[in-house]
Amino acid sequence: MNKKISDAIIDCGITDRVIIETWKQLVEIESYTHNAKSVHKVCRFIQDQLEGLGLKTKVYEFKNAGPLLIGEYGEGDKSEGIILAGHMDTVFKDGFIMDHPFKVEGNKVFGPGVLDMKGGINLIFYILKILKKLGYRKPVKIVISGDEENGHVKSDCGNLIEAESRGYKAAFNMETGLIDNGITIARKGRMGCTIKTRGLSAHAGTNFHDGISAIFEIANIIIKIQKLNDQYENTTFSVGIVKGGNIVNAVPDYAEIQLDIRFVDDDITEKIKQDLNRIVQSNTIEGATSELLIDSIFPAFVSKHNKKFYEFLNSVSIQNGFGKTNPVSLGGASDAAYIAKAELPCLCSMGVKGQWNHTDREYALLDSAMERIVLVVDSVLELENKNF
Ligand SMILES: [Zn+2]
Repeated sequence: MNKKISDAIIDCGITDRVIIETWKQLVEIESYTHNAKSVHKVCRFIQDQLEGLGLKTKVYEFKNAGPLLIGEYGEGDKSEGIILAGHMDTVFKDGFIMDHPFKVEGNKVFGPGVLDMKGGINLIFYILKILKKLGYRKPVKIVISGDEENGHVKSDCGNLIEAESRGYKAAFNMETGLIDNGITIARKGRMGCTIKTRGLSAHAGTNFHDGISAIFEIANIIIKIQKLNDQYENTTFSVGIVKGGNIVNAVPDYAEIQLDIRFVDDDITEKIKQDLNRIVQSNTIEGATSELLIDSIFPAFVSKHNKKFYEFLNSVSIQNGFGKTNPVSLGGASDAAYIAKAELPCLCSMGVKGQWNHTDREYALLDSAMERIVLVVDSVLELENKNF
């Protein structure tokens, strides 16, 4: 490990015990993504921590979504500056902590959002502390969203992340670290859609032939959509929810499905919409009608600058004795997509490592906290002499 950094860690008094203390505080302020009020509470805690470290902060508020918190430090041109990003909301409903409290068992840390991604936010506090101790004065911007887990559907947060990130040299998204030491360099985008189909109800015994079955029509639509999987490369179509009918002895006049579509390149979304519209408009059952609603689009995370940035980070990891990393492309979306849209290199999954995020088995590895702090600090220092 870099001697300068390990000395600074000692001088700052940063130990596992200290790291656990703020991690616990973060986890114990629950922040369910659909409860903007509770996300605001954790936002205030993070804001206080950042201001305590001497950062200037600002908060973008949204009517029905958790806020976006920005922290700034350093001086000079932002083209020399770096971004540390993340999100403060979790997928766990308020009260989940009652049965799943924050706890440390050996090297495993448990609690709602302990890995995804309060663990990563916690690291930001210590990364800043060490950089300050080492006299680092280049610009550092903190970008922490409050509605990532619901895909920013009720806010303009994605565009604001992109705007706040523009012009910076590089970004580290402190998201859920991968247990196999993988670093995420790309992620699929996601489109969520609903298809609503209407038919005509009729008694299933007396007037069966007068009815138009919305379920039969939507069953045909499902088959057509599933077949799209053979026509696309690297794009997947999954029907995740089917609803329809309300009584068994009537021909159903209504049915709907919800789709999850994943893609590697945002350019494909227009073609996807065209194909879905074609399917929806060409009914199989005479008299049935359907409509397509696009519920949300989360962009794909791709950056042409990432390959070199990744190789650089991998070399810093090896230098520090943290071993080889491996570049990973994931199916799940993250805010790295919006940062990369601003045309800067960005690496994701830089937070504490662990497994099973979004489930009650979620845990993080305690010893990965100090490792990731050092990896990011050293990368930031080394970045001073690098260009991608
Ligand atoms: Zn996350």
